[in-house]
Amino acid sequence: MTQTDEPDHTERPDTRPGVSMPGPPPTTLLPPEVIEDIAVRAGSPGFHRWLDQVRRVGGCAQPVHLSGGDPHGYHTGHEPSGTLLVPCKTRRASRCPACAEVYRGDTWQLLRAGLAGGKGTPATVAGHPRLFLTLTAPSFGPVHTRREKDGRALACRPRRASGNCEHGRPAWCGRRHPAGDPDLGQPLCPACFDYSGAVLFNAHAGALWNAFTKTAVPAALGHLAGLSRAELRRQVRVGFAKVAEFQARGLVHLHAAVRLDGPDGPDGVPPTWASAGVLDAAVRAAAVRVEVMTPESAAVGACLLRWGEQIDTQPISGGDGTVSEEAVAAYVSKYATKSAGTT
Ligand SMILES: [Zn+2]
Ligand SMILES: [Zn+2]
Ligand SMILES: [Zn+2]
Repeated sequence: MTQTDEPDHTERPDTRPGVSMPGPPPTTLLPPEVIEDIAVRAGSPGFHRWLDQVRRVGGCAQPVHLSGGDPHGYHTGHEPSGTLLVPCKTRRASRCPACAEVYRGDTWQLLRAGLAGGKGTPATVAGHPRLFLTLTAPSFGPVHTRREKDGRALACRPRRASGNCEHGRPAWCGRRHPAGDPDLGQPLCPACFDYSGAVLFNAHAGALWNAFTKTAVPAALGHLAGLSRAELRRQVRVGFAKVAEFQARGLVHLHAAVRLDGPDGPDGVPPTWASAGVLDAAVRAAAVRVEVMTPESAAVGACLLRWGEQIDTQPISGGDGTVSEEAVAAYVSKYATKSAGTT
C-alpha cells in the first residue's frame, strides 16, 4: 500500500449518527425496496410525527410497538404507523447498544447519587459509613484459572503429590493460560465438577442476597451494637445497590455499594456507634453466616447454599488509598450491562 502526501479532496461520508452526510448518498448499501420505503415514508402525511417517535426511542435497535388506547381518548390507531414506539429498555449491550448505554448511565447516576448525594438524595450521605462489597460463589470443583504474579502468568494448578482424580484425569494443570483462553473457567474434570450445585447456586443467588440483606446484616449489626432487632430498626437503616456479574466459571458473583443511614433513610443521621468499622464487621459476619436451603429435589436432595470464602469489603471515601464514589459507580454500572449481556 502506498501513501501520498497529496491532500484528499474527496468528501468522505461521516458515519456518526445525527451528522449529515456530505457527498453522494451510499445508495449501494441499501436495497431498492428500502429506498422506496424511505421515499414513501418521507412523503407520507404523518412523517413528522413518525420522525418524532423515532427520535424518542433514542436509537433503540428493537423498539416495542404498542397498540391500543387510554381513557383520555388517545389511540395508537391515530399514529402514522398505527402503533406507538417505545424503547426496548434492555440492559444487554449485545441486544440493543443504545438502550444498554442508557441503562448503564442511569445506574451510574443512581449509584453516584446514592453514595455522594444528588438526584433527591441529600449530599450528607457522603458522610455516612459506606463500603463496596464483593461476594463470590463457593467452589464447585477445580477449574482452569489464570493466575498472575507481577504481571506474569503462573501455572494454572501446580502439580501436587496426588496426581489424578478418581476418574483418572490429572488433578493439576501446568499450563500458563493466556487471557481469553476458552479453557478458562472449565473444570479440570467434568465428572468431578458439581454442576447441579453450581446451577442451584446461580438460581438461588437472589434468595441468598435477600437473606443476607434482610436478615443476616441486621442481625449482625444488632449483635455488634447490643440492640434488639426492633431497637436497631429505630436507630439505623442499611441501603444496598448491587449488580451481579458472571465469572469465567459461569457462576454469579455480586458487587454492591452498602450505606448505613439513620432510621429515616438517607436523610437521617446514623448514631455515633454506627461507624464504618461496625458496618464492615457486620457485613463480613453476615456474609460468612448467611445460608439458604434449596427445596428438596429427587435428583440432588436439598442443598445448603452459602457465599464463597472470598469476601471483599472496601471502604468508600474520596480520600487516599480507598475506593472513590466515582470509581465504584463506574465499576458497578459497567458490570450492570456487561454481565446482563453475558448471560
Ligand atoms: Zn433498545
Ligand atoms: Zn489449566
Ligand atoms: Zn474426576
